[in-house]
Amino acid sequence: SVLADQIAAGEVVERPASVVKELVENSIDAHATQIDVLVLEAGVQSIRIIDDGDGIADEDVLTAFKRHATSKITSRADLFRVHSLGFRGEALPSIASVADVVLTTSTGTTGTSIHYRGGKLLKQAPAPLRQGTDITVTDLFFNTPARLKYLKSAQTELANILDVVNRLALSYPEVAIRLVHNSKELLKTAGRGDLQQVIAGIYGVQNARKMVEINGKNEDFQVSGYVALPELTRASRNYITVLINGRAIKNQQLTKAIIKGYGSKLMVGRYPIAVVDLKMDPLLVDVNVHPTKQEVRLSKEPELAKLISSTITDRLADVNL
Ligand code: ADP
Ligand code: MG
Repeated sequence: SVLADQIAAGEVVERPASVVKELVENSIDAHATQIDVLVLEAGVQSIRIIDDGDGIADEDVLTAFKRHATSKITSRADLFRVHSLGFRGEALPSIASVADVVLTTSTGTTGTSIHYRGGKLLKQAPAPLRQGTDITVTDLFFNTPARLKYLKSAQTELANILDVVNRLALSYPEVAIRLVHNSKELLKTAGRGDLQQVIAGIYGVQNARKMVEINGKNEDFQVSGYVALPELTRASRNYITVLINGRAIKNQQLTKAIIKGYGSKLMVGRYPIAVVDLKMDPLLVDVNVHPTKQEVRLSKEPELAKLISSTITDRLADVNL
């Protein structure tokens, strides 16, 4: 029902940035190599995502807007085992229940355009065979005024969108991702699989030059990525990105471990720019975490924290030689 979809939307779509995250993840799941994110007024006015992915077959389009119709996993433990980012089958119906959504999609053999508003199907019609999916979300939360009121300033909502797109770009260097806000290009990655280039796109070429590659491992974990030299710091931890098996996550202990790796090289209140990718057996990822949250706990977390700290400490010691 529309009401059930709206309740689910409370979990899945809190703000414009969550819409962007869900839709870009859908494009990635659909094997897109190019994803354009076009946002007006911090996403409150409109969010448009264009991809060159698999598209949705004409006969599957209605199903895609039905809740749980697409659930791909049966337990949370599967979260880090499955290759697709989507698994709940909730994003499209949730978004369509609290906004105006026009989706045009083509698999190359069928093309469909579909229009939902407030959970109601308004129109479905054939569309041209342009491979991929083009989805526009407008009037977000038009029928849930409480949630609309809960939104922060445009500046904050845009910062959240940028954060989401940056993290996805860092997680998927092989996908060319472009973010445009009110016709200003905020990010453009080349999609050539070069993490350093993505870092340069996000933090600037000059800053990227002040970052060093790290590599470390023990029997359970492999640590790689790029960390800033101590001279390149920021006043917030937001510039620290942690990926587990290529997926951006949040974990306080691991973030602290990165900072700890700098020892006394960081001034009080200053934090590095860092992108740290951790490879591990998915079974080490704690399953007792709500799947919509990015917060993740791990078995052997203290051991991993030590490995991260020592990898960074050793690497920075090398630089000073
Ligand atoms: P989930 O991603 O959890 O499966 P969603 O509600 O996000 O659920 O999407 C529902 C389904 O719609 C997906 O499983 C996928 O089959 C299809 N879909 C959504 N977006 C796209 C897209 N950009 N390209 C191709 N298929 C898509
Ligand atoms: Mg999805």
